[in-house]
Amino acid sequence: MSKGKVLVDREGNKFLIKDASKDYHTKFGFFGKEDMKKAGKIKSSTGKAFSIFDASFIDLYRRIKRNAQIIPLKDVGLIIAETGINKSSKIVDAGAGSGGLSCFLAAIAKEVTTYDIREDFIEIVEFNKKSLELKNLKIKKKDIYEGIDEKNIDVITLDVPEPWKALDSAAKALKAGGFLVSYSPTIPQIMDFVEAVRIRDDFSCIKTSEIIERIWEIEARKVRPKSQPIGHSGFLTFVRKI
Ligand code: SAH
Repeated sequence: MSKGKVLVDREGNKFLIKDASKDYHTKFGFFGKEDMKKAGKIKSSTGKAFSIFDASFIDLYRRIKRNAQIIPLKDVGLIIAETGINKSSKIVDAGAGSGGLSCFLAAIAKEVTTYDIREDFIEIVEFNKKSLELKNLKIKKKDIYEGIDEKNIDVITLDVPEPWKALDSAAKALKAGGFLVSYSPTIPQIMDFVEAVRIRDDFSCIKTSEIIERIWEIEARKVRPKSQPIGHSGFLTFVRKI
């Protein structure tokens, strides 16, 4: 990933420069376009020291365009770890939303196809796909409840209001042993999803989990959880095709 530069100072002030061909202005002064070609330590026009380096995938990812709420990184982490997504994985995802999950997965998997029914969301994902240079991400305007065209899929991720309606499509598309992951914010959704899985004979290994991330503040001997509410995002249910 060569696009973009990151400026960071010792206090953790951080700027993502998307267009490194121009001067860049901050509240700490500006950096000239010739500074963008440097690596390591540079100084702003007011003399404040910063480090400059090439933006990595995560620097660009944190700044993607978003319309719907994107799935938080803590939950992306569990999806990858539980299903073992890797460079040979073929994945189907729905709904695309802003492409938060599908873009992250495309950066590590072989191929990701994401479905959405809304044109406005598809345009946002197209934009994010381009800015992250993800050539292995396919975007489809299609209702996931109506069927999945791809076959022999390793992992299907669902972030849709009625995930149980996608079980028939998912069962046909997944390879044996493949994972279906459903992300839902409310308990009735996971109750209905798990119940619908249980009455079938083609899924097993049901596991539902919620990840709670607590950030800590560490300042000399003042070491404690940051004073912030522990927000709820969603529950993740994992099942395997048998
Ligand atoms: N996981 C996404 C956010 C998804 S938001 C991210 O990380 O960015 C939920 C999306 O599901 C919405 O964009 C909505 O249009 C889409 N959606 C709802 N029902 C759907 C269906 N039946 N098939 C495909 N997409 C659907």
